Amino acid sequence: MQASPDKPAVPPPVNTALAALPVYQPGRPIEEVARELGLPPDDILKLASNENPLGPSPKALAALQEALSRVNLYPDGNAFYLKQKLAAHLGVQPANLLLGNGSNELIELVGHAYMTHGVEVVVSEFCFAVYPLVTQLFGANLVTVPARHYAHDLGAMQRAITPRTRVVFVANPNNPTGTTVPAAELLRFARAVPPHVLLVVDEAYVEFLDSPPDLLSEVRTGALPNLLLLRTFSKIYGLAGLRLGYGIGVPELIALLEKARQPFNVNALAQAAALAALDDAEHVQRTRENNAQGLRFFEAAFARLGLEFLPSAANFILVRVGDGQRVFEAMQRQGVIVRPMGSYALGEWIRITIGTPPQNERCLRALQTALNQR
Ligand SMILES: *Cc1c(COP(=O)(O)O)cnc(C)c1O
Repeated sequence: MQASPDKPAVPPPVNTALAALPVYQPGRPIEEVARELGLPPDDILKLASNENPLGPSPKALAALQEALSRVNLYPDGNAFYLKQKLAAHLGVQPANLLLGNGSNELIELVGHAYMTHGVEVVVSEFCFAVYPLVTQLFGANLVTVPARHYAHDLGAMQRAITPRTRVVFVANPNNPTGTTVPAAELLRFARAVPPHVLLVVDEAYVEFLDSPPDLLSEVRTGALPNLLLLRTFSKIYGLAGLRLGYGIGVPELIALLEKARQPFNVNALAQAAALAALDDAEHVQRTRENNAQGLRFFEAAFARLGLEFLPSAANFILVRVGDGQRVFEAMQRQGVIVRPMGSYALGEWIRITIGTPPQNERCLRALQTALNQR
């Protein structure tokens, strides 16, 4: 039958889990907002997706140029060179590493491997939106543990584990709150999670921490076969557009998860750029310094304006502005994209990614203008 405007096309009924699934709401793309406002894309400032405001490493850009002429070839499906280099960088073995099309893909692989009907997945209130989405997609039951002062309550999360629990997610630092759990507490928690439960510690922002918890040594010794660390080239390395994340775990766990991935899930350009980015410690260090300075700038400004905020250990900050959706829209009209938090049940807050000093100043001015329009 033909679809017509008054008679929408009806696809065959989908799996019930998918039918009930909400849609992930990403930060709004610059081009889309530029079109809406009738402004050139260069006039739009996006501080909504925790991207690196300094751009990619120049070394990564040069490697990309060089790799372009070979995109007629399939990538190395096992990413031999990247795994070698990353393993050396981390002090682990290549067999400890699983690469993904962004660490988001790795979260989905965890779903393929461990989530099904009847299984419980434990997360914290205010957790990264992708964990509940993947849990629901696979028809598993989400168990959300109330946060403590907006941060993970590891004691309560431990008590939420039952014989039916198969996965626990902890993001440290957490997105969107920017909170961390003390290193010693996280280590104690990791050792206390029972062997039938996969503990996923998402360390997407770990490079921004001054003294990160040392979970890698638990992987090195093989002490925790149920621990999977997730990291990414999207944040401090500035390669979000290329989609590359990695998991770290014991070889036996990695081998299981490998079975669930597509043979060429990490493209050749991403592999080339990441290899070069790992050589650019200076770019990472500059990013870290810019971020620390930007966090101090926003924290001082919010304190001055009497706005509640959560002290952040990551490259973004959550600030309480009243009606977050209204403030988000009012800032967007000024060409500044931040992230409204309604979908995280934090409707009074917005999340701002730390930019360069001029970007931070422009963002703050837009925020003040938005607040004054109240
Ligand atoms: C940004 C982010 C990721 C990384 O996503 P990629 O798919 O690697 O771009 C993973 N986890 C959290 C908590 C994040 O904020």
